[in-house]
Amino acid sequence: MYKVETDELILDASKRLDQYIYENPEVGFTAVNFFANRIKLKDAPITSKLDELIKLSDEVNQKIAPYMACKKGCGNCCSAITWIKQHEADKIQEYTGRKAQRLAVRSQNQWLEAGQKFAGELCPFSKNNECTIYEVRPIVCRTHNNFVNDVSRCDVTNPDSKIKPILSFNADLVEVPYDELARELYGEEAIGEISEFFPTIKGDIK
Ligand code: SF4
Ligand code: SF4
Repeated sequence: MYKVETDELILDASKRLDQYIYENPEVGFTAVNFFANRIKLKDAPITSKLDELIKLSDEVNQKIAPYMACKKGCGNCCSAITWIKQHEADKIQEYTGRKAQRLAVRSQNQWLEAGQKFAGELCPFSKNNECTIYEVRPIVCRTHNNFVNDVSRCDVTNPDSKIKPILSFNADLVEVPYDELARELYGEEAIGEISEFFPTIKGDIK
């Protein structure tokens, strides 16, 4: 057991998260939950519902940006493990022309174990700390955010990041309905770390 220290940065981050929710109730927790469920349940093709959820997460990101520690060019999180699904890899293939591997459907224990070795490895689509596939980046990248003004906590190679948490707007609000709809559309899909789908030579992104 480690001692949990009083964390001034988390307190500061909580205040800014509260401030965001107070000043933007139309995209606070309750509203996003409501909108995401309404999209999920509406009578429309699943592909368009998935697109709408992506738009919703982008809208939240846009509103939340002034309150967050995340800034353009700040990419420690792109060296964390990035779990994506086969349909997301296929979308990236379509956008980049880079061939996505077809991974086998594995048990959760198997894909978790296989992906661990990529912790600390830069995503193959990161270049100069920027995302080269921003328009088609996976849902996990769209919903990841951090309010704590110490980006070293997002660096998985930093031992402190294991015991000092970041504070995020709840990603599950959009990610869970997205995953449920994707499962309905694509069935049981392969899940893997982004580098497993694109085992590229580092730095070859143009
Ligand atoms: S999650 Fe962390 S590393 Fe990623 S953009 Fe935000 S502050 Fe930067
Ligand atoms: S897809 Fe883009 S945002 Fe996501 S980990 Fe890779 S470089 Fe970062």
